[in-house]
Amino acid sequence: MTEKIKLTFLGTSDSVPSASRNHPAVLLTYKGENILIDCGEGTQRQFRKAGLNPCRLTRILITHWHADHILGIPGLLKTLGLSSYNKKLFVYGPKGTKFLMGSLLKLFGIREDYPIETKEVSGRFFETDDFYLEAGTMSHGIQCNAYSFIKKAQIRIDKEKLKKLKIPKGPHLKGLKKGRDIIYKGKKYSAKRLTYKEPEKKISFVLDTSFNNRVVPFVKGSDVLVCESSYIHELENLAKRHHHLTASQAAEIAKKAKVKKLFLIHISQRFSKKMKGVLEEARNIFKETYLPKDLDTLSA
Ligand SMILES: [Zn+2]
Ligand SMILES: [Zn+2]
Repeated sequence: MTEKIKLTFLGTSDSVPSASRNHPAVLLTYKGENILIDCGEGTQRQFRKAGLNPCRLTRILITHWHADHILGIPGLLKTLGLSSYNKKLFVYGPKGTKFLMGSLLKLFGIREDYPIETKEVSGRFFETDDFYLEAGTMSHGIQCNAYSFIKKAQIRIDKEKLKKLKIPKGPHLKGLKKGRDIIYKGKKYSAKRLTYKEPEKKISFVLDTSFNNRVVPFVKGSDVLVCESSYIHELENLAKRHHHLTASQAAEIAKKAKVKKLFLIHISQRFSKKMKGVLEEARNIFKETYLPKDLDTLSA
């Protein structure tokens, strides 16, 4: 069975939370990996509300060090320490993250009961046989990264075909995924006939940036783009001044980058009664746009 990538929107507000929207944080789960993208204030409670265990966390990806994206880190790290977290926690961020993370640990007197490794990243920065992570520099007035999680294309055995040809599971299938033909009961079967290629899956996260010419190439071809949408078209000048995107600009990015689905987060409470309008504005440009609520999930 193909393992799915799961996203949980733990927080979808901008810098001021509302009763229904918490500060930004999205959790990506894939096999043993639990990767948190940003950790706004109160994120650890959002884990509990979502029925998720923060101790499963493997990596934190910080887009930038504005308070609304990092205030949840000290509390979360404390909780992990009190919960016998026993793995190494990897924290990634843009330039300056090592100093800021060190300062944060000092300020809150967080003893490292478990190892924390902090890395400043750009480009492809982590890779397994299955997937890799990429960081791209955005424009937000301070150092800021966008991130992509890319599950590599994989060769899968076509179980339906095996059933049809009455070939059972077993060691004789070894080598198929590597493209080697097999012999079963004296008959030769080509690997090409019994396998298929599952395409790459790309999930991108653009949190806090003004419109810039790096964002489209960075998120190009994403199956899912999670993107900030702090303003609406009417307030484009304000968006520019504060280094943010409008719903229209997020949709424009999605369209130009030929992504499959766009999920808008970092939603200002000033639009709490105009959500339909925000969504419509984006959908006029890019139809496959969605406005997730806190604790919504999706599989890709
Ligand atoms: Zn923000
Ligand atoms: Zn920001």
